[in-house]
Amino acid sequence: MEKTFLMVKPDGVQRSLIGEIVSRFEKKGFRLAGAKLMAISTELAEQHYGEHKERPFFGELVDFITSGPVFAMVWEGENVIAVARQMMGATNPKDAAAATIRGDFAVTVGKNIIHGSDSLESAEREISLFFKEEELAEYAKSIGEWVY
Ligand code: ADP
Ligand code: MG
Repeated sequence: MEKTFLMVKPDGVQRSLIGEIVSRFEKKGFRLAGAKLMAISTELAEQHYGEHKERPFFGELVDFITSGPVFAMVWEGENVIAVARQMMGATNPKDAAAATIRGDFAVTVGKNIIHGSDSLESAEREISLFFKEEELAEYAKSIGEWVY
């Protein structure tokens, strides 16, 4: 089953949005495979956001993501990478549709509540950066014919 890495950023944690965000993905029919509240080191932040290291906002982004606890998650389900991105909404909340997470809860691009992998390759990379194999759950039974 396809997996993605999602993370409630420090602004979402401080604003008590973890439950709301987890609830949206659960209700959709995706399944939580791993989760932890954690602090991100500068090293991990620089690795995670490595693709942006030449961008002018890189320093600000690393400072922000290390500024408080994040809630890191792995979710699984059919097309979960692309569908989770749709449920998150556009990177800049001013362009994010209503009923998306960023559309409903965020105002500025620097504090846009949630991260989600944007491809199969980045999902695999980010899951292995944040989680060990043994931290991910294996469900005995499939969520089954009620969703698929
Ligand atoms: P996404 O999180 O939607 O995948 P990107 O990978 O392009 O977006 O950017 C990573 C994160 O960097 C964004 O979620 C946002 O928090 C931050 N960011 C992107 N563009 C800007 C910008 N112009 N100014 C400040 N922060 C930005
Ligand atoms: Mg991205």
